[in-house]
Amino acid sequence: MGKLAFSVPPKEPCVQITDIRETVVPIASPIKNAYIDFSKMTASVVALVTDVVRDGEPVIGYGFNSNGRYGASGLLRERFIPRLKEADPARLLNDAGDNLSPERIFDTLMANEKPGGHGERSVAVGVIDMAVWDAVAKIAGKPLYRHLADAYGDGTVDADAFVYAAGGYYYPGKGLAALQDEMRRYRDLGYEVVKMKIGGAPLAEDIARIEAVLEVVGEGRYLAVDANGRFDLETAIAYAEAMRPYDLFWYEEAGDPLDYALQAELARHYDGPMATGENLFSHQDARNLLRYGGMRPDRDVLQFDCALSYGLVEYMRTLQLLPEYGFTGRNVVPHGGHQLSLNIAAGLKLGGNESYPEVFAPFGGFADALSVANGRVGLPDAPGIGFEAKAKLIDTLRRATGTG
Ligand SMILES: [Mg+2]
Repeated sequence: MGKLAFSVPPKEPCVQITDIRETVVPIASPIKNAYIDFSKMTASVVALVTDVVRDGEPVIGYGFNSNGRYGASGLLRERFIPRLKEADPARLLNDAGDNLSPERIFDTLMANEKPGGHGERSVAVGVIDMAVWDAVAKIAGKPLYRHLADAYGDGTVDADAFVYAAGGYYYPGKGLAALQDEMRRYRDLGYEVVKMKIGGAPLAEDIARIEAVLEVVGEGRYLAVDANGRFDLETAIAYAEAMRPYDLFWYEEAGDPLDYALQAELARHYDGPMATGENLFSHQDARNLLRYGGMRPDRDVLQFDCALSYGLVEYMRTLQLLPEYGFTGRNVVPHGGHQLSLNIAAGLKLGGNESYPEVFAPFGGFADALSVANGRVGLPDAPGIGFEAKAKLIDTLRRATGTG
């Protein structure tokens, strides 16, 4: 008797990406920091459509690229989206086969990419990565912060997160009274700490601006300042000496983001807290800051922005580095003011998150139903990153990608 021959048809993956849509939207505004104006600023938006159905609709993950870097359409269209579309769907799933694997998708995106020279491909990958995590949490039926705590954290979440109001930009015709009014609005919204730009005016003028804001917020511990990488060492030290008496909340990105020697030398001249890292786009760059930047775990703040730096898969590699250099997640207060960072802050217990109450709408800001109180904000109970809990944002994401 011959052997009974039969074959099992290959099992269809039960979660598949059916479409990836990409577009660029303007987030232009007339504001300036010490380095750039935002008159032509754009952002990439991606919709990752799956064949998973929840509440009668296909699960769609959305992503965008924070702010301060331009949209990355060319990279997305020519390299990263095709790689994902061409991949064997089964190789993009987790071991259980019941959800997408952000780590395997990351590996697929980064195939045939040399190390180093991160440029802005980290932005393109970060946009897709945000959409992947949004979809993964929606498929899991959980808010992303809960999914992160369960799958990668200690199983518990922070109920709310520290947030500060970033603004104080240079703006044509904006005098001290307008700057004070802006900061009063942030205080009225429930923020305690506010941030203003420096370095776009001469030192004496910036000191007058700082003193004007201190009249509003009362004490230096409620005011952070941000030079956006403008200063050489001599200028960075001159500002440090002039600002020392104010005991500010932090002194941010004094010099070029890759000038670790400047940052380390500045720490010898300034005892107060300093912050930097928003323009470091890989865990290797972050590691160089920790190795060579003289950052002090007892007071300094790391501002890596996952949406600009290859996304959350890479971000977790950065977070894993911290203990080796004496830091914890509580030292990290990400740049960008977006909800992905807020989810990471709550689910993986970071130090908080940036917020832009008046700029970069609708990408900045949090759930409509949740207001800031005592400098902290809660998170919505919605599955995913929470875009659906912010009406203007989800409307923009759906319209831009034709998925609404
Ligand atoms: Mg900054």
